[in-house]
Amino acid sequence: MTADRRHERQLAVRDVMTRDGLDALLVTHLPNIRYLTGFTGSAGLLLVLPGSTVLVTDFRYSAQAPLEVGNSASVEIDQANVWNRLGRVLAAEGPAAVGVEGGYLTLRDADRLRALGRFNVVPTADLVERFRAAKAPAEVSAIIAAATLAQEALAEVLPSIRDGEREIDVAARLEGALRRRGSEWHPFQTIVASGPRAALPHARTTTRTIGRGEWLLLDFGAQVDGYCADLTRTVVVGARADDRQRAVYDVVRRAQARALAHVAAGMTGREADALAREPIVTAGFGEAFGHSLGHGLGLEVHEAPRLSPTAEAALPLHAVVTVEPGVYLPGWGGVRLEDDVYLGPDGPRCLSDNRTELIELL
Ligand code: ZN
Ligand code: ZN
Repeated sequence: MTADRRHERQLAVRDVMTRDGLDALLVTHLPNIRYLTGFTGSAGLLLVLPGSTVLVTDFRYSAQAPLEVGNSASVEIDQANVWNRLGRVLAAEGPAAVGVEGGYLTLRDADRLRALGRFNVVPTADLVERFRAAKAPAEVSAIIAAATLAQEALAEVLPSIRDGEREIDVAARLEGALRRRGSEWHPFQTIVASGPRAALPHARTTTRTIGRGEWLLLDFGAQVDGYCADLTRTVVVGARADDRQRAVYDVVRRAQARALAHVAAGMTGREADALAREPIVTAGFGEAFGHSLGHGLGLEVHEAPRLSPTAEAALPLHAVVTVEPGVYLPGWGGVRLEDDVYLGPDGPRCLSDNRTELIELL
């Protein structure tokens, strides 16, 4: 059993509440509720108060919620209306200022909340997320488990991929392999993009037939104990790579290797991004790398910090981030390579296998 950090996480949140003059914090973003209590349900309102934490949810979770949250929160189940139940909890407490998550509370729910009492509703930003960015050892272990599982699923499926089959059939086998190995769910829609479609950084998987000698870009993830891994590999199907494919692949691979070797806590997201962007620009493909280098990974597949040309914030110690440079040439195709890296006190540690030698599936 790993250390239970839920109480210390809540204490850290309470410190910020005190500093910001909040008498209560209403947490509605589900990954934040999970982080603070362990609750994995799809609906719930978490109220963090100075001396207690209350999770309000509905009948579907009457058995599950108490089991999951243990003594990290008291659970109130309301079959009729969770907002009315929240109102009763607030009335007993009498807060003057109730913080809400500005990025997540809908306008409708803000109106519902205001109708519950005569307190100020105060928008907050990243109040819980700021703590989630630095991972504890158990969180890093879960991401390693997810990455390992994803790599094994890919290793199983890769040798079976042939030109003449459809992208969606490859996705079906890959998703099946991920689930059989224990992935809780696909943290995002699996991308299997062939030929010119590999030039679309966020392509949907389609029924297109993979042609001989074409690129096949696979961007996929796994989830273990709620924590996500996110990997991309790009391979050539049915033939040897041609000279241009080799040249572009080599640029992306060198850029990724440079970033993986040197990315570190304390540098800004912009500096990290530049590690990969500079060699791509030097090779003449600057315009073809139109997205940012990476993003944080954790309970969400996209979370803080950002590694991008506009990210001036320093990367936190113990963050886990993706490093995923790409070169996309419309009409021709594209290459992206993505691995997951932990930013520790002794430097970066790749959590995925970084198996990026050019694979030709013959
Ligand atoms: Zn990805
Ligand atoms: Zn990613």
